[in-house]
Amino acid sequence: MKAFEYVTAQTPQSATELAAKDGRFIAGGVDILGEIKDRIVEPKRLVNVKALPNSREIKPGDQFWTIGANVTVAQLAAHGGIAKAFPGIAQAAAEVASPQIRNVATLGGNLAQHSRCWYYRHPDVRCLKEGGSTCYAREGENKFHSLFTGNPCISPTPSNLGVALTALEATAHVQRGGKAVKLSMRELYEKAWSNPLAHHSLEAGELILHVEIPTPKTRSAYMQMAEKHDFDWAMVSCSAAARMDGNKLTGVRVVLGQVAPVPYRSDEADKFLEGKVLDDAVASRAADLLLTGATPFQHNAYKVPLAHALIRRTLQKLVG
Ligand SMILES: Cc1cc2nc3c(=O)[nH]c(=O)nc-3n(C[C@H](O)[C@H](O)[C@H](O)COP(=O)(O)OP(=O)(O)OC[C@H]3O[C@@H](n4cnc5c(N)ncnc54)[C@H](O)[C@@H]3O)c2cc1C
Ligand code: SF4
Repeated sequence: MKAFEYVTAQTPQSATELAAKDGRFIAGGVDILGEIKDRIVEPKRLVNVKALPNSREIKPGDQFWTIGANVTVAQLAAHGGIAKAFPGIAQAAAEVASPQIRNVATLGGNLAQHSRCWYYRHPDVRCLKEGGSTCYAREGENKFHSLFTGNPCISPTPSNLGVALTALEATAHVQRGGKAVKLSMRELYEKAWSNPLAHHSLEAGELILHVEIPTPKTRSAYMQMAEKHDFDWAMVSCSAAARMDGNKLTGVRVVLGQVAPVPYRSDEADKFLEGKVLDDAVASRAADLLLTGATPFQHNAYKVPLAHALIRRTLQKLVG
């Protein structure tokens, strides 16, 4: 491991200035320290953002809730108000990794974590995502990789919370240079769709301050399938959020995780569900629409029926 400076930022602006050139933020450290130990990144400076004011607060509200970037995944999983207002978030948080990791991992770090592709994580491999010339997963071990992508990298986004927050149409407030900007969840990840080097849309030194979740969607749910019950990422995950108009769905968003470099959704599937009473046929048709265009590789075709089942079950859980 190469030597680096360690500094603790006291304001968002100083954090962005300290990290912008050759630096990286550290919150819980679960992801960034792994990358440094494996020589995947070699920052000259680690900027601790855990001391930033108001960054560990969960603030309920009538129009929206605000969740600070340094709220831990364990807090999200255990918070009674979140479980009631946004069960999809509590369920997504509870499925992250293991209790030890959830205790230190933060919302901001979870959203900004980097690819788990084993070629990317291997200390001696320099794949396309790291500035090399080849995506080794395309012709290699692609069991956990994407069904959809807009670029030659087929590594899926690994964040559970990104999937649940996309379904709830949350907004990330980001310190960009001297000002704070608002990014929809689509904007937070869209660069990873088209650029093989990107894990999300944030540039060096751009800091997530907090996330705002609007309250109108009164229902949400999250489900995933993983090989191990604990200490593992999902093979496929699904989150859905909606309002209920009587027994009809409205404002529905259904989102898949671990199938694309971004939390994956489709306007066609969401529009189809608008105003529908959910039954098996409706859920199945929505799953067909969401999976239209899925392009499996040699080892990940199992993800298509798995995603189909998860979409149907998550929708049932949403209305159940
Ligand atoms: C065995 C294992 C299993 C796991 N399983 C899952 C899983 O099932 N689901 C899942 O979602 N995750 C999973 N994870 C990933 C884990 O949840 C993330 O690594 C963790 O949430 C990162 O949070 P952190 O606070 O430790 O981030 P850090 O490691 O401190 O930071 C992660 C990245 O985000 C950047 N960063 C940190 N804070 C901010 C901020 N406020 N704004 C902008 N950038 C920031 C850092 O520079 C770094 O690049 C797993 C990890 C392990 C080790
Ligand atoms: S999927 Fe992406 S991260 Fe994995 S080897 Fe290919 S380019 Fe690298």
